[in-house]
Amino acid sequence: MSTIKAIEARSVHQIQSGQVIVDLCSVVKELVENSLDAGATSIEVRFKNDGLDLIEVQDNGSGIAPQNYESIALKHYTSKLSSYDDLTSLTTFGFRGEALSSLCAVSDFHIVTAQADQAPKANKLEFERSGKLKNKQIVAGQRGTTSSAVNLFSTLPVRRRELEKNIKRELGKVVTLLNEYACISTGVRFNVKNTDAKRKTIMLLSTKANATMKENIANVYGAKTLLTLIPLELDLEFEPSATGKRVDRELNEIRVRGHVSRPVVGEGRGTRDRQMYYVNSRPCGIPQIAKAFNEVYKSYNLSQAPFVLADFQMDTNAYDVNVSPDKRTILLHDSAALIESLKNALDKLFQEAEQTVPQSQI
Ligand code: ADP
Ligand code: MG
Repeated sequence: MSTIKAIEARSVHQIQSGQVIVDLCSVVKELVENSLDAGATSIEVRFKNDGLDLIEVQDNGSGIAPQNYESIALKHYTSKLSSYDDLTSLTTFGFRGEALSSLCAVSDFHIVTAQADQAPKANKLEFERSGKLKNKQIVAGQRGTTSSAVNLFSTLPVRRRELEKNIKRELGKVVTLLNEYACISTGVRFNVKNTDAKRKTIMLLSTKANATMKENIANVYGAKTLLTLIPLELDLEFEPSATGKRVDRELNEIRVRGHVSRPVVGEGRGTRDRQMYYVNSRPCGIPQIAKAFNEVYKSYNLSQAPFVLADFQMDTNAYDVNVSPDKRTILLHDSAALIESLKNALDKLFQEAEQTVPQSQI
């Protein structure tokens, strides 16, 4: 991994998002994305007392290089980009260098990290509220990084009370979010558990490394889900619409990969709670795309909503992720033409699928 350095001053205001750590979900999301960016194949998320006492994410990724210990939690220090221009070719989840700095500000934050050549020795790093390195100590540890946020929002009493009040719902949202990462990350083992106030530990999510996407779906949503699914393999190619900002040909070639319910009445469920959308494997909410799936599906099956896992694979110049603090909003530069082409392709897929038999089990 390259050196962690400050983003150029002129770029900071273009990239910074203001508030990154606003709830339990954002803590988990930022830490898990850091683990994925570090190339982890195993990610363990542990909560104590629903996350009120401790949120801990352990990975077997690259670890952090000793020359970066001092800067890792300083605001806008990142190893992932150095100027605004790099954003268009970004392939990592993180790019703002804000998450660790925000976590230091709102919790007691520490890290244990080791690179391959350091293990079985690791370094425990403790930080001040400002993100400055406070203490460094050699401890035992394998290759990878464990990030621990203790007493989240203890520095912000109003937000802490809010968190305590809504903690069960928040934890539910975290599991939904982690399901999205777990289903698409076929090379990564996820293990998520909570130890409650009475020291009882409950497994919230568990997937294997090197599983297929279908195995992940079965683990998360139950094996029965697979019975209704057909593969989603669409190669969309379209002329740029008049309103589309860009005209380069490769920007208008988009591959859609994943799984979707067959449009057969009696299959699927009435709700939209099992739909996951991604752009280049990044989980995100794309309302126009969700609408397209549900609309086309409805013309075949009025009573149910489909299961959807759809990854839109496209050139990184075709969209912008730097729109909202949580980076879940994706701005597609030419959504009108994409949606039209998607609807046509889905229509064709559903038409064909009506005649075919369902996929068997894995
Ligand atoms: P960003 O992800 O936007 O770069 P963060 O504040 O999340 O900013 O992290 C700062 C830096 O710390 C990252 O750029 C990365 O170099 C390093 N880092 C954080 N978490 C991990 C991890 N789990 N494994 C390896 N490096 C990490
Ligand atoms: Mg990050």
